[in-house]
Amino acid sequence: MRSVIIVGAGIWGTSLALRLAESGWRVTLVEQYQPGHLRQASAGETRLLRASHGTDEWYPRMARRARELWRELGDRVGEELYTETGMLWFARRAQGWERSSASVLERLGIPHEIWDPARAGTVFPDFRGDDLEFVLWEPEAGVVRARRATQVTARLALAAGVGLVRGRAEPYGDAVRVGGEVLRADQVVWACGAWLPRLFPGLVDLQVTKQDTLHFAVANGWDTPAWIDDEASVYGHGDVDGLGMKVTSDAEGEPYDPEAGDRRISAASETVSRDYLRRRFPSLAKAPVLFSQVCQYTLTPDNEWIIARAEDGVWLLGGDSGHGFKHAPALAEYVGEVLEGGREPEPRFGLHERIPARGLRTGSRINKVNEA
Ligand SMILES: Cc1cc2nc3c(=O)[nH]c(=O)nc-3n(C[C@H](O)[C@H](O)[C@H](O)COP(=O)(O)OP(=O)(O)OC[C@H]3O[C@@H](n4cnc5c(N)ncnc54)[C@H](O)[C@@H]3O)c2cc1C
Repeated sequence: MRSVIIVGAGIWGTSLALRLAESGWRVTLVEQYQPGHLRQASAGETRLLRASHGTDEWYPRMARRARELWRELGDRVGEELYTETGMLWFARRAQGWERSSASVLERLGIPHEIWDPARAGTVFPDFRGDDLEFVLWEPEAGVVRARRATQVTARLALAAGVGLVRGRAEPYGDAVRVGGEVLRADQVVWACGAWLPRLFPGLVDLQVTKQDTLHFAVANGWDTPAWIDDEASVYGHGDVDGLGMKVTSDAEGEPYDPEAGDRRISAASETVSRDYLRRRFPSLAKAPVLFSQVCQYTLTPDNEWIIARAEDGVWLLGGDSGHGFKHAPALAEYVGEVLEGGREPEPRFGLHERIPARGLRTGSRINKVNEA
């Protein structure tokens, strides 16, 4: 029986553990806290799932496969882990990201529509789109109930026979040391999110940043779609599960330590979110904050992930760059095929020097919200 040790029980590690255990591997999952703990990036209440990725075709295909797998997983546990709210992209330029995305969606046969901005006003109770060229509607995009999905995936993995070791792992050649114990397997996968740079210094070029999310109280009727304003680096969704209107800035925050970092949002983040609401959804400008969450991005220079062999039998899986959750079950399928020897990872995911690029996520280094 083939064996694997996976370090990290975020959504990437747990999805891979589940996938491999159900394909006949003996799987050990090592986690320093509990699956779903609040320091991990996967513990956000919600994460958006979208196919649009500008000019890229690889991620849209991956997102579509993931959509199928989230729905299957939800059916399997009798719970809607993925809610298909649809998503509106607010396009400020006639020929920007949204137009490129629409061309790719068209080519791949993924449902979408181009709307006049006024039509978006029929979807949101209160909406100002007079600065927009058009709105791109992705009806099959939506929201994954992320923290819940991480816990469910972990539970299924354990039920499938995955052995969970609680402790902080460190690399030990091609093995894993946890406390005084050395664990060995045919393959080791380090799926450690924001902890990866400190485990493999010099090998990975990753920047960890603090990202603040706010949820604002809304009246009944705000069960609206997800939305993304690329040029403003802001995204969110309507009232899923009573969580209120989510507003997150996708602009990269300050450098952040996932262990020691304070998990309170800054006053500046609230100001930025309110400024955005005031312009786009004016009636929410003074809405009370329901709750807020701090999370970290783990960014590669070009926002492409890392799926790479560090040495024989040792793999690094990380650098999700703030756009990894949605893909997790499909990524697990892909990495499973890599570990089984059926494919090599795409060169883009390697440990080579990356040329800075911002085409995959919606944000930029500069917070453009206040300029908008
Ligand atoms: C504000 C915000 C919004 C986002 N929005 C979206 C979105 O809308 N759509 C989307 O697709 N993605 C989104 N993302 C990104 C998504 O959350 C991540 O891509 C995903 O959660 C990464 O999962 P992971 O398993 O790689 O990392 P994590 O969830 O961080 O898990 C890593 C795990 O490894 C464990 N670990 C680390 N080191 C060790 C060690 N030495 N020993 C044992 N255990 C260890 C940690 O404790 C942790 O549990 C967002 C992220 C943020 C911060």
